[in-house]
Amino acid sequence: MVVTRFAPSPTGYLHIGGLRTALLSYLWARKNNGTFLLRIEDTDFSRNDEAAALAIVEAFKWVGLQHDGKIEYQSSRLEIYKQHIQQLLNEGKAYKCYMSKEELEALREEQTQRKERPKYDNRYREFTGTPPEGREAVVRIKAPLEGSITVHDGVKGDVVFNVHDILDDFIIARSDGTPTYNFVVAVDDALMGVTDVIRGDDHLSNTPKQIVVYQALGFPIPKFFHVPMIHNHDGKKLSKRDGATDVIAYKTMGYTPEALLNFLVRLGWSHGDQEIFSMVEMLELFDPSDINRSASVYNVEKLDWLNSHYLKNMTNEKLCELLEFHGVMLISHDKREILLDAVKERAKTLSEMAMLISEILVKPAGFEEAVLKKGYKEDSKEVLEKFSTALRAAKELHLPSDYHHVMESVVTEMGIGFGKIGQPLRIALLGKLSGPGLDSVMAIIGVEETLERINTLISY
Ligand code: GLU
Repeated sequence: MVVTRFAPSPTGYLHIGGLRTALLSYLWARKNNGTFLLRIEDTDFSRNDEAAALAIVEAFKWVGLQHDGKIEYQSSRLEIYKQHIQQLLNEGKAYKCYMSKEELEALREEQTQRKERPKYDNRYREFTGTPPEGREAVVRIKAPLEGSITVHDGVKGDVVFNVHDILDDFIIARSDGTPTYNFVVAVDDALMGVTDVIRGDDHLSNTPKQIVVYQALGFPIPKFFHVPMIHNHDGKKLSKRDGATDVIAYKTMGYTPEALLNFLVRLGWSHGDQEIFSMVEMLELFDPSDINRSASVYNVEKLDWLNSHYLKNMTNEKLCELLEFHGVMLISHDKREILLDAVKERAKTLSEMAMLISEILVKPAGFEEAVLKKGYKEDSKEVLEKFSTALRAAKELHLPSDYHHVMESVVTEMGIGFGKIGQPLRIALLGKLSGPGLDSVMAIIGVEETLERINTLISY
């Protein structure tokens, strides 16, 4: 039975790097008919904020990675951590340390001067005396004093940490009794039965500490998969300057969850040269031991490409539903099929699509000089007038092809190329020189509106 989890700290929004490890954890659990848990790591009361936790859950819902069971909040499990801290104290595997802040600082200072790595000097490890008066104790766990701890990592291979270089008897409970980060992660992963921890490799250095906790409490150690970070083109950690890092920003920009998840699964994992992965394919093919060892590079063009692929292949009904978020209500629009077909090949995002739609549905507010200069020639007025007359004379005008026939008849009659009518007509209808097919645009707005827009341009 595989149990995985996503365990965000609510210190901000859901980061796309976090979503990527969540996706990989989700895939691995689902692929194995296992369990995927969502745990909010909110024990650092000074940094957490409830709104951030909500934002994370909201973003998580948007992408549709369904977790099993209820969301676990560490803040409601404090009693459990206390019990385990007490157990370690009782068993002599942890102890109270009464060192004051000043003493700790002085020790650090000395060690730094000696060019040593600052670390706790175990002065209370075997302490049995009377505690200094008025001093609050922290609880420290007894870490191994020598040797090494090896993390058997499914991505990185065996990573050996020299105890002397990285460990000391670290604090598991602060003086106010609240447990510390590495302690609660290990306790929760163990108690929740997590078998496979898939997370960012920024947590690799925490893993030996967590292993110390597992060992002290006699818990089995899970498998670890530390996924390399997402980098920008300069090989640095992805930052806001390189592109949005907040998952919800991708919703606002008009990306679909399918495209975003497809994009994220390919960051650091591949299957031959396949780029498009449906959820079913991801589930079939993903294996965390195939995750690349090196960092992956964020490439927004790839995301755009994927997103337009998913938009093109989406049903119009679904598109309609998603466009509502971008302010476009098409449910009762009688030409919505033609409208969506006209724009969906041309947009990389839903917000771009919403813009194209409003450019069709809303009359141009005016005409730019440069556009007119380029596309509205001396003979344009005559061509447009002829076209208007032909439109008025036409009987049945419903489909784009009906309008196309009228355009055809005018260019044939006048002995001119399509461009002669296309350019000025495009300016009249959309106020610009590019955009969706004109026959579709006219079929969408109808003959009266078409005539009106042409007239506006002619008399401009
Ligand atoms: N809460 C940690 C974070 O948000 C992740 C902990 C883990 O995955 O082990 O970075």
